Amino acid sequence: MKISQLKVTTPYLKLDLVFFDLVEPTPLKKPFLISASKDAAKLLGVDEDITKDEKLVEILNGTYKLEGSKTFSMCYAGHQFGYFVPRLGDGRAINLGKVNGQNLQLKGSGLTLYSRQGDGRAVLRSSIREYLMSEAMHGLGIATSRALALIGSETDVARERWEKGAIVLRISPTWVRFGTFEYFKAKGEHDKLQKLADYVIDESFAHIKNTEGMYAKMYEEIVRNTAITIAKWQSVGFNHGVMNTDNMSIEGRTIDYGPFAFLDDYEPNYVCNHTDAEGRYSFKNQPGNAHWNLQALALAISPIINHDRALKILEETYGPTYEEYYLNIMYEKMGLYEKDKKDIELFKWMLGSLESAVIDYTRFFRILSRYERDKKSILEMAVYQTPLSEWLDAYDKRLEKETLSAQERYARMLSVNPKYILKNHILQEAIEKAETSDFSMIEELLTVALSPFEEHKELEHLAKATPMSAKNIKLSCSS
Ligand code: AMP
Ligand code: MG
Repeated sequence: MKISQLKVTTPYLKLDLVFFDLVEPTPLKKPFLISASKDAAKLLGVDEDITKDEKLVEILNGTYKLEGSKTFSMCYAGHQFGYFVPRLGDGRAINLGKVNGQNLQLKGSGLTLYSRQGDGRAVLRSSIREYLMSEAMHGLGIATSRALALIGSETDVARERWEKGAIVLRISPTWVRFGTFEYFKAKGEHDKLQKLADYVIDESFAHIKNTEGMYAKMYEEIVRNTAITIAKWQSVGFNHGVMNTDNMSIEGRTIDYGPFAFLDDYEPNYVCNHTDAEGRYSFKNQPGNAHWNLQALALAISPIINHDRALKILEETYGPTYEEYYLNIMYEKMGLYEKDKKDIELFKWMLGSLESAVIDYTRFFRILSRYERDKKSILEMAVYQTPLSEWLDAYDKRLEKETLSAQERYARMLSVNPKYILKNHILQEAIEKAETSDFSMIEELLTVALSPFEEHKELEHLAKATPMSAKNIKLSCSS
């Protein structure tokens, strides 16, 4: 099956007209294919090489319509940095339809009813970031929207400087956001809230359909999925940067990649988003941010789920799920497989010493995955060695309680501690090359994004240490 042969449906359009706006994409000038993810294409049932499909560029540019496609943008509201905005919506995203349980969406394809002051465009720089990071998140085993392909163009787009427009074809089992519910709650349209909840259950939580208390169960699913995704973000050191309720997927997927970053040195107070002056969405605040957003969702759905009941679900589900997943992942990352009550202390001590030592979070765990009690291999990465050295003594003792052989432990640790993560300095290199029409690094990064735990001898340079000048820098939101 070729991508251009896909037949799509548009179940979202069965909802009322107030849920969406029918809109045509505005094509970019002189579009050209930059990259496509064959791995993501498999989700659609496409088994032929999509890069060879002569219609691919046209599909992304909106000039070739898939059979059954009706193009539309979705409305939603959202709490942005704590303040409620009653009407946002897909200001630069246009949906094409659904196939194989995946909703296809173009990002950067022109003005919609919801564009507000924006131009409906996405620049090459931010599109490369979204394209690669969606695939990398999947490679790390974290729920996310995926990216099928990326096109560039000759269309000029004004940001802090003139840049070129690009479009990413994103896919996700759902594009409903917490903010979609908030939109109808704010308008007092409670019948629409229920219709939306029914749609969400059909689309995302079919296993609870027509069961007793299904809306409460839906909320519980959302709480649990969100807690799991945030636990995974914290474990890999991912800072999303714009955790507004309109950027929170109803399935708990990571969506809307903007000024995101991975931690370089372990620094819990790190804030990747340059415009986030108060540090609301700092790395360490993310579990609390998600909880805040889930509270906002509980309020938004209060006309269909008793508010106290929803808050009870939140309190009983969120913290315990987050803790369970986060600690289990962290113990795996540390190579601790036997249960020991004192591990929690060893873990907290480790985080404290990583922070005082000033050391790269990802590289620390990768080196620890081959640690043979040769402290030097780890300490030479740290600016301050004493705190980590003392912790390693305790870690050495704790390892004695493990029953796995060292070789087995290394294998397990290497499968949870990525070698390759898409750090900003590497993405920046790829972007600068792409802006001179050299797209080679994007293909290299796609390879490591999809298999971050493997070695890739010929791509070692993509795992190099972050230069001092680029460590934990902040990024502009303009995209
Ligand atoms: P974000 O936080 O980046 O996901 O975007 C917040 C809101 O602004 C969403 O409703 C976007 O659709 C909208 N938006 C962002 N950039 C643009 C743009 N260039 N043109 C139109 N709308 C935009
Ligand atoms: Mg958004």
